[in-house]
Amino acid sequence: MDEKRHISYDNPYESTMNMRFIRKLPIPRDVKQEFPVPDPLREVRLQNIRAIRAVLSGESEKMLLIIGPCSADREDSVLEYLTRLRRVADQVSDKLVIVPRIYTNKPRTTGDGYKGMLHQPDPTGRPDVLTGILTIRDLHMKALTETGFSCADEMLYPENHRYMDDLLGYVAVGARSVENQGHRLTASGLDIPVGMKNPTSGDYHVMLNAITAAQHSHTFVYRNWEVESQGNPYAHAILRGYVNKHGQSLPNYHYEDIIRLIEMYEKKDVQNRAILIDTNHNNSNKQYLEQPRIALDVVYQRKINSDLRRYVKGFITESYLVDGCQKPEDAHVYGKSITDPCLGWEKTEQMIFKLAEQI
Ligand code: PEP
Ligand code: MN
Repeated sequence: MDEKRHISYDNPYESTMNMRFIRKLPIPRDVKQEFPVPDPLREVRLQNIRAIRAVLSGESEKMLLIIGPCSADREDSVLEYLTRLRRVADQVSDKLVIVPRIYTNKPRTTGDGYKGMLHQPDPTGRPDVLTGILTIRDLHMKALTETGFSCADEMLYPENHRYMDDLLGYVAVGARSVENQGHRLTASGLDIPVGMKNPTSGDYHVMLNAITAAQHSHTFVYRNWEVESQGNPYAHAILRGYVNKHGQSLPNYHYEDIIRLIEMYEKKDVQNRAILIDTNHNNSNKQYLEQPRIALDVVYQRKINSDLRRYVKGFITESYLVDGCQKPEDAHVYGKSITDPCLGWEKTEQMIFKLAEQI
């Protein structure tokens, strides 16, 4: 067999697909060898992960707060946000385990628009994935080096996870990916907690099936390898609201919504059954200023029902330096989101202190 004929990247012009193979990207191992995580920081990351696991398993009474911009658009404002967050996190560390969001891959409802720093390291520039890979590794590395945080990202493209698997502390599988087998099986092979969101339709079964799949061991194809995963005992649920058949946005953080999920969760043969509440997206209908109220509402529910207290372990909140959002094309305001609207810094600080007081 003439092998070359079957390897289209050797000769792009022989490709029978409707896409141009632009260039071959470096494999994660090579990128990691060139930009390794210094040893002392590996230990910092492990401590961060242990703290998150302790919350999810119930070993710790603290709550988890995953917080930060909808998308990481530029290094300077993201690092400034993290520096401010570090100061606050240290003051509330007896109540909250804080994990910043550095979301470098953005799912888009129609596929169009800003796809995140991986694809567009310069949000107003042309796509450049090679620079993107190096930029996002560098940003997650600086977050760890300069602020001691191992951050959360969305695992939108499972194959890309390995470019940063030695830096991250948490990943979410998004509402548009949670039914996908590749995401579920890859999640089963990660050594960090994975949050499975409810799908945009709101169906709890899809999310619970994703958790079951992620907690089990599987043999599958990953980055051109046949691999065997161990199963991830820290895969858990995230409620993010949903959209009904009429396109209306509806929340699912209310008392009855959570009780219903707990009843279904209890029937599943999984470990560390935990629920996080996403305070934005369809839970707030992107009314981002509602986020502190939503979080405090859930804290109150936990006080009046011990099941809720046992299950609801934290929040995911969209927050940045400046309130609201702006279009990527005219993104001139430093620290203002270019995707979903975010709570600005002062309100964020108030929300965190209030949460710490009420938990
Ligand atoms: C997000 O966290 O910004 C996001 C896109 O979430 P979801 O997958 O719930 O829409
Ligand atoms: Mn968002």
